Amino acid sequence: MNSRLHYLGMDARLIEPRMKLAVLTCMDARVDAASLLGLRPGDAHVIRNAGGRATREVMNAFAVSQGILGTREIMVIHHTECALQRFTETQLAEASAPRPTIRSRNCWGASRILSRRFAMMSSV
Ligand SMILES: [Zn+2]
Repeated sequence: MNSRLHYLGMDARLIEPRMKLAVLTCMDARVDAASLLGLRPGDAHVIRNAGGRATREVMNAFAVSQGILGTREIMVIHHTECALQRFTETQLAEASAPRPTIRSRNCWGASRILSRRFAMMSSV
């Protein structure tokens, strides 16, 4: 058993969140959902993405959370000064669309595939 969860006792073996809660919030580093809500490990599913948006992936996660893992409530937390509010859905979709890939070689000669953006960042 994970020692961080020892305070839960036998509840640490449960995969269902104890509070039967799923939280959607922004990935902004300033948002600390656990501290804000007083959550401890095992209390809730916390789903984060850019802007705390209910995307298809988030809806799929909620379906699993509620359909399989027993949550009954969903809480959405947004925050002020979210950088993602400056962009439209179209702009976000374009920015996160898969990029053409290129191959690079590491120092052992093994090739790997990198996104073009990552490769550009690595070469700086
Ligand atoms: Zn945000």
